[in-house]
Amino acid sequence: MELIGQFARKELSREELYTFSLILCDNEIDRDNEKFTVSALHTLAKLFVGKTGIFDHNMKSKDQTARIYSAEVMTDEARKTADGEVYTYIKAKAYMVRTEKNKDLITEIDAGIKKETSVGCCVRDISCSICGKNIKTEGCEHQKGKSYGGRLCCYLLSEPSDAYEWSFVAVPAQKNAGVIKSFDMSGEREKLAEMAMEFRQELETDIIRFASSVIPEMKQAAVEEICENLSLKSLREMRDALRENARKNLPVIRQLDVCGAEVNNENSEYKI
Ligand SMILES: [Zn+2]
Repeated sequence: MELIGQFARKELSREELYTFSLILCDNEIDRDNEKFTVSALHTLAKLFVGKTGIFDHNMKSKDQTARIYSAEVMTDEARKTADGEVYTYIKAKAYMVRTEKNKDLITEIDAGIKKETSVGCCVRDISCSICGKNIKTEGCEHQKGKSYGGRLCCYLLSEPSDAYEWSFVAVPAQKNAGVIKSFDMSGEREKLAEMAMEFRQELETDIIRFASSVIPEMKQAAVEEICENLSLKSLREMRDALRENARKNLPVIRQLDVCGAEVNNENSEYKI
């Protein structure tokens, strides 16, 4: 009651209030192959307190809104995320003022029909789970959703700067549905990933070309296979080394004799 009292405009009695718990978000890898870090969840828990939520994305009636009055980070030791972390989630408590209009809604929540929550928030940092590079500022060659040496690549979302909405969705479209995220530089990371891919292809083409002259005994398929498993940095080193060797191995090309040059006939002075 005390916590709710901080947000309510007028004194509310216990009978007027309806409270319920909900899971806002967790550290599981979502359908976009992204996940919140545990420290991000701690920040988000604080940011969500006081925020109002809506039901089914419907803001028509103010009777359909609830407000979060407390949120805490919880762990479920028995459950592991897809990448092997202890399942961690934000459990929030929200309240609504009981009215005639939201009676049915409250019945639905009690019956457990409205279960899925979606959140909207903004994060400052997105990094690659394989190499740790910042996707926004550095970019890397790993693709989220792909496996590298048995490790699944996903993007780690951290340093949330704002939490601006949460809502209850009646019918979830799919598992982990509805985690709406926005990024400070939307579209930038896709562009960077694309650039990294282009650079990679360029390096691989060079390597195949130089390898065919430096190590002609090696089959192109084998070179391609090696390339697939190398990082961008190693690819570049390999390209530079092969290029250097290719240069050294090239036959010395003599400068062509200048056409039409005066024929220097040593005996010319004896000519009559
Ligand atoms: Zn990476």
